[in-house]
Amino acid sequence: MVDWSKLSLNYTKTPYRFVSHYKNGAWDEGGLTQSADVVLSEASCVLQYAQTCFEGLKAFTSSKGNIVVFRPDMNAKRFSDTLKRLVMPDYPIDKFVDAVLKTVRATKDYVPPYGINAALYIRPFMIGTSPVINVIPSDEFEFRVFTTPLGSYFKSASSMKLLISDYDRAAPNGTGGVKAGLNYAMSFYPSASAKAKGYNECMYLDAKSRRYVEETGTANIIFVDKDGTLVVPSSPSILPSITRKSIIYIAREYLNIKVVERPVCCDELENFAECGLCGTAAVISPVGSVDSPSRHVEFKDSSSGRGPVLEKLYKTYTAIQKEEIPAPDGWLYKV
Ligand SMILES: *Cc1c(COP(=O)(O)O)cnc(C)c1O
Repeated sequence: MVDWSKLSLNYTKTPYRFVSHYKNGAWDEGGLTQSADVVLSEASCVLQYAQTCFEGLKAFTSSKGNIVVFRPDMNAKRFSDTLKRLVMPDYPIDKFVDAVLKTVRATKDYVPPYGINAALYIRPFMIGTSPVINVIPSDEFEFRVFTTPLGSYFKSASSMKLLISDYDRAAPNGTGGVKAGLNYAMSFYPSASAKAKGYNECMYLDAKSRRYVEETGTANIIFVDKDGTLVVPSSPSILPSITRKSIIYIAREYLNIKVVERPVCCDELENFAECGLCGTAAVISPVGSVDSPSRHVEFKDSSSGRGPVLEKLYKTYTAIQKEEIPAPDGWLYKV
């Protein structure tokens, strides 16, 4: 059926997805369907004005043979925050988690077996479906959850190379802190330009002063300083990554690693020994260097793979997800 050794980051259709509709001020019961197609008016708000948002999380086969979903309640909460910002109707946390678990259960044959560096990726999303021409929010919506098996994000032996972007990802009081589709369409051009120059991704700076590190288009950035402290850039326009939040907890509670969350100025990049990208897809991927037109910064300990601190965090984080070591209460939802 699925050749686990050949999994990529491409979409593979699985047989079931969850669908629910919002009409006349209320969500219907929702349920599983086999149809992967969405039929829309040409004037639907999602097509005209990008009223769409999403989430992303993973299910694994654990060392104990369970199928587990990692922290779906956290995605449900973040989804609620995003919905508010986009004037979309709330989708209750328990219903969100239930829809995720139902979809994973229905597509459990696509969860990669234990021991393979892969997962079942889960994509909940919502779109505004009403036809509009005036610039107003939709009053009808569709919520969907589909799954697709996903290989690992970072496969190459060497570390990633980032380019400090001349473009901005998020305005100071904009939508950078929520998972709105509109944040991603506009990132294609800077990302493609960086890739054309031989880089893996862009590093965005804060749009106001252009001095502080924000993130890449799809993952947060974390650093380790020369004393082994985990330094996590903070800014309201960085998307609050659940991976990042989990890594901070693991550093403090499992590994006794000091963590500092603060704005990180791009002038201090030379002080860091390790750099990594973190996110559901990236997990913790090593960054070897960051370039701008006037500077080249190398992270000595993560120039060829994760350095010692990020490797320890990665090992513990993935061991928790696979039930190889005990997870904090409430992190794993059994399907
Ligand atoms: C989703 C996302 C992340 C990672 O968040 P996780 O919850 O860890 O998957 C980071 N940055 C951006 C811009 C994102 O959209």
